[in-house]
Parts: sequence; C-alpha cells; structure tokens
Amino acid sequence: MSSTEAPSVSAPHGGPTLPQERRVVTAIPGPRSQELLARKSAAVAAGVGVAVPIAVVAAGGGVVVDADGNSLIDLGSGIAVTSVGNAHPAVVAAVTQQVQAFTHTCFTITAYDGYIAVAEALNRLTPGDHEKRTALFNSGAEAVENAVKIARKHTGRQAVVVFDHAYHGRTNLTMALTAKNQPYKNGFGPFAPEVYRVPMSYPFRDGGLSGPEAAARAILQIEKQVGAENTAAILIEPIQGEGGFVVPAPGFLRALSEWATANGVVFIADEVQTGFARTGAMFASEHEGIVPDIVTTAKGMAGGLPLSAVTGRADVMDSAHVGGLGGTYGGNPIACAAALAAIDAFEHDGLVERAAEIGTIVLDALHEAQARDPRIGDVRGRGAMIAMELVDPTTGEPDAALTGRVVRYATEHGVIALTAGTYGNVLRFLPPLAIDDDLLREGLSIVLDGLAAHAPDAPPAEPVSTQSATTAAVAS
Ligand SMILES: *Cc1c(COP(=O)(O)O)cnc(C)c1O
Repeated sequence: MSSTEAPSVSAPHGGPTLPQERRVVTAIPGPRSQELLARKSAAVAAGVGVAVPIAVVAAGGGVVVDADGNSLIDLGSGIAVTSVGNAHPAVVAAVTQQVQAFTHTCFTITAYDGYIAVAEALNRLTPGDHEKRTALFNSGAEAVENAVKIARKHTGRQAVVVFDHAYHGRTNLTMALTAKNQPYKNGFGPFAPEVYRVPMSYPFRDGGLSGPEAAARAILQIEKQVGAENTAAILIEPIQGEGGFVVPAPGFLRALSEWATANGVVFIADEVQTGFARTGAMFASEHEGIVPDIVTTAKGMAGGLPLSAVTGRADVMDSAHVGGLGGTYGGNPIACAAALAAIDAFEHDGLVERAAEIGTIVLDALHEAQARDPRIGDVRGRGAMIAMELVDPTTGEPDAALTGRVVRYATEHGVIALTAGTYGNVLRFLPPLAIDDDLLREGLSIVLDGLAAHAPDAPPAEPVSTQSATTAAVAS
C-alpha cells in the first residue's frame, strides 16, 4: 500500500458501535499487518518498538480491529489511556466541534475557555478541598518535569527522592527519576543530578514489612543520605505502573506524606497511570486517604488525546514566576475539549464504580487461577489496574520468559495483554472501563489458557483456529 492511496473504505468506524467480539480471521499478525510493520521497520527509528504487531484500523469499547479484519480484546487501553473507551462518542463530538472552531492559539499567547475549564475540573476533583492551581502540558513526562521544577522553586531546595521500581518517563530528567535501566535508560546518560532513590514498599518482595516499617526504612535513608533540609520533593506513584502494579503496604504513603509535611518537603503523587477512575477511585491517593501537595495526571484524562497536568496547592504552584511554566502546545484546545468530555464521562457515567467492578472480576479470575497454579506468585492491584507476577514455583525467581510466552499466546488468539515490572515477569491488565463483562472474562480466560498451554506438563499446542475464535457479538 503506498502512502498516497486512500484509506481502506472497508475500515470500520470506531467507538462503542464496533461489534464487541473477539474475531480471529487470519494468523496474527496477518498479511496486512505484516506489510505495515515492514514499512515501519524501514521508516521508523528502531528505538520505537511495537509490542503487539498489528496495524490498527478502528477501536472502541473493549476491542481493537486490525487491517486484516481481526478484532482483538483490548486489555491494555493503549497503556491506561482509553479508559472511557476508544473513540468515545462524546470525545469525538467535542473534538470535532473544537477542531472546527480553532485548533491552536498557544495558551500563553491568547487564553481560551477549555484550558481554564480543565484546570477548574482538576482543582475540584483531585484530593483535598484546599485552594489549588493547575498547569497543562502534553505528556506525563512533561508534567512530572514541571512538578519537580515547581517543587524546587517553592522550597529553594534541589534534591528529589524517588523509589525503587519507579517509572516517571523518558525525557532526561524523568529517565533519572525512573528506576529501570533496560530499556529506558541504557546508554542514554548522563542523567540529571540531585535524584535520590530509596526502597519502595513491595509486599510480595520485601519480606512482609508493614507500611510504616517500610516508610521508616525509606525516611531513614533520606535523612542519612540526603537530608530533609536539602529535599525539595518526594515523588511517588501511589500504585506503581510500569514497575508492575506494586501496591505499597497500608500506611506507607501516609507515613511518607506526613514526614514530607513535617519537613517542608513537597509530596508529589504521580497519578499519570492511576488517575481518572482507573483504580476504582477518581485518584489512587484516595484509597490511602492522603492529600498530596501536587498531583500529576495524563494518560486517562483526555480519551486518547495528548494532555497532561500538574495540579497542586495554590501557594506551591504559584511560586513559579510568570513565564516560568508553559510550552507551545501545552493545554491544546482540542485536547482540552476531549478532556472535558472524558471527565464528564468519568463523573457522570459511573466509571469509578465500573473500575471497581472490573477489579472484582479480574481479581476473582486470577485468584482462582492462582489457587491451582503456583507459577502465579502474586495477584495485586486495584480496580481496573490488576496484575499477576509469574515466578518459578520452586525458587520463587521471576519468570520473564514465561510472561513473554503468555503475551504472545494472547496476541495470537486475539487478546492484547501487556507486561510490566522490573523483572519483566508481570502481566498487567488495564482494560478500558467501557469493556463489557463477557468480553473481559473471555480475554482473561484466553490469557490463562496461555499460561496453561505453557505449563511444564501441557500437551503440544494446536494451531490457532480462525473459526472457533469468533464469538457472538455482544450488544453494547
Ligand atoms: C506513563 C507514565 C509517565 C510518562 O507519561 P508519558 O505521557 O509517556 O510521558 C509518567 N509517570 C507514570 C506513572 C506513567 O505511568
């Protein structure tokens, strides 16, 4: 297919009207997807990988449709982005209306309503009823960078404390903030200075330290190695995303946040992955009853359009001088229109409750599987953000190879599933909140079939049938 050719007229429209079914009609990747990926290899920088080798033509509800006509169950949401559903009708309508009115002014040149309305919504929805201010950016990494800038300006201090297994992005500062070397950092140094890493609370792997004990361990390290008086910010994901959905033991976040407050340190919750209903609360900080000084958001906020935010205490946020924050595209009007439609859906379509229901379905399925399969070392997470950690049952060592094989099985059988974790042995589930129960259960059972198919005593694999994989369309 040449780039001048018109898009295929048979491409279905996205959104919830797309048949909500798993449909495997070719090998995956099929011929058209393979053709596209060959062009990708020739045209796109090798460093930009593609995890699931398909060429997407439409997506909506709980499915992604490829160029070969396969319909895959989406258990990834483009990494927790399309929480309201891909091509959500209200997002599409808002974007369409905005793109016809104006596409860009640069907010720092001339202001517009959408940016301010998103800031008002974030000030209202993020934890705490104190006075807040918001600044908008394009990506999660950019929000985190700006949160650090603001915390440094506010405190007049430089050190930033981050945690083992943390992920905060791929720009220079956020690479330094991110824990994992491969693939995020390897060879890309030197990294930004004044970043200090301390131990996380990781109940499955830290010998059962309680939350307060794990916090005391981290705080001792900060006090001895950095000094509270040098510390501008503690930056933490309330539930770690790329790190493998590590849920800290109860009381860990609260103890850290209390220590930060007592020592004039800005407590920044990176809710880029956990924000906007994902965990069964509007923000994951709420589960632990903490009120961060600053919250960073992005992924789920704008229904798939690039938008991120830093929201925090008015006195902290306003410490940056006029002109010190901004960027050409930050708070783009189209992205803001999308966010306002998505936020309306989060608030009024019961998506917080829906995320909690999804959590119950996923946890039940994984706990049941864990009871008969000792390779499932841990099942954890909250709401529509649940993971399982695969290990060697005799040694307890992480089994990244098995995790990769299960993901490949899932792809071949029409299910998009993602990995995570420092050791690459975490299978994570981030379905769109718009997915229906039947599709969700089917997707999970395929992933668990993949695990069973790679059991040491499993019978040899049968080829994927392209007929039996078609399920009845479920009315949405
Ligand atoms: C994805 C992510 C980021 C980076 O967001 P980008 O939009 O990819 O720059 C930062 N923090 C967390 C917790 C994330 O999950």
